[in-house]
Amino acid sequence: MSHSKYRPATLLVHQGTDRDPATGASTVPIYQASTYHHEGGVSGEYDYARSGNPSRDQVEDAIALLEGGVRGFAYASGMTAIGSSLALLKSGDHLIASTDLYGGSWRFITGVLPQQGVSVSLVDTTDINAVKDAITTQTRALFLETPSNPLFKITDLRAMVEIAKENKLITLLDNTFMTPLMQRPLDLGIDITIHSATKFLGGHSDILAGLVTTSDPELGKRLKYFQNAFGAVLAPFDSFLLSRGIKTLKVRLEAAQKSAQELAERLMGHPSVARVWFPGLTNFPGRDLHFSQATGAGAILSFELKDEGQVKKLLENIKLPIIAPSLGGVETILTHCWSMSHAAIPAKDKQQQGISKKLLRISVGLEDVDDLWDDIETGLT
Ligand SMILES: *Cc1c(COP(=O)(O)O)cnc(C)c1O
Repeated sequence: MSHSKYRPATLLVHQGTDRDPATGASTVPIYQASTYHHEGGVSGEYDYARSGNPSRDQVEDAIALLEGGVRGFAYASGMTAIGSSLALLKSGDHLIASTDLYGGSWRFITGVLPQQGVSVSLVDTTDINAVKDAITTQTRALFLETPSNPLFKITDLRAMVEIAKENKLITLLDNTFMTPLMQRPLDLGIDITIHSATKFLGGHSDILAGLVTTSDPELGKRLKYFQNAFGAVLAPFDSFLLSRGIKTLKVRLEAAQKSAQELAERLMGHPSVARVWFPGLTNFPGRDLHFSQATGAGAILSFELKDEGQVKKLLENIKLPIIAPSLGGVETILTHCWSMSHAAIPAKDKQQQGISKKLLRISVGLEDVDDLWDDIETGLT
């Protein structure tokens, strides 16, 4: 943690542990071991791989450094990161969560938590009064996502922190879309940030991973206890790949963001497009709020076509993007939210949230933006 004086681009590359302490090798080896010798029967720094592994330590230190947390946690997936963080709640507690959530988070929060005795209210967290009104004597936590997915609703993090402090609530934020490079929620008073590191942090669509960090040492202790108790930790090889992905985050994200801006503007002018959602657009609702708490627009945009038939045509004709429910890879990913990323959400809830069958999401990759545009244009004609 002595690296905390460095700026983000440096931290991404050096990550706290930037070489093998044992040999000086340029990368931390993949410590493919389940247990550790107890010299003379005494445990050393490591005793068993579920509790700790040097390959995993590297990414756990990295997320804490990047977000300004006291310690980090790496899990086998983003959903495990979310589930393990929400394990802080116990039977009888009440959780308030944003209505417009990643589909898997929606499934966990509405399908698993209630069965464990945690009651849940889904609230439009862009409406500060709606959040205040939803608080009961049992409310213990606020689970947020901003920008939201896929409609880029912007929640005022400072206002949420204020409400949480008044009511002694734990604040958790899914920061997957922004990454710590563009949004540092702990600095604004959020207690816990969560990432699907499957996305931008891993960056190459080749691993499933989750990261969590907190600014509160007490919460850190409890998260450590749950991580070890559940055991769904990130494997050594996947930790290595994640660490490797994190090293290039800045150049990847900045290049992709530039192309996303370009595509969002071009889509705005296309006759088949009804609407575009991207925080970098000048007329984007919530733009000022977003840029008061984040430094970039990110590399994801959503757009709605005027006609459902065009969605089918585009999905059939487009060549470069992979058509899939994910984001944050080096390749462009096109998602039909209705049937892919948000398939877990029932049709009527999707409609209520404004997720229509005509909505598409693009996670912009590192291809030449003109090739991407040619491909989209051809697909739409
Ligand atoms: C993908 C995603 C998740 C879930 O992460 P997994 O790694 O797929 O388990 C959670 N939140 C957001 C915003 C995501 O995009």
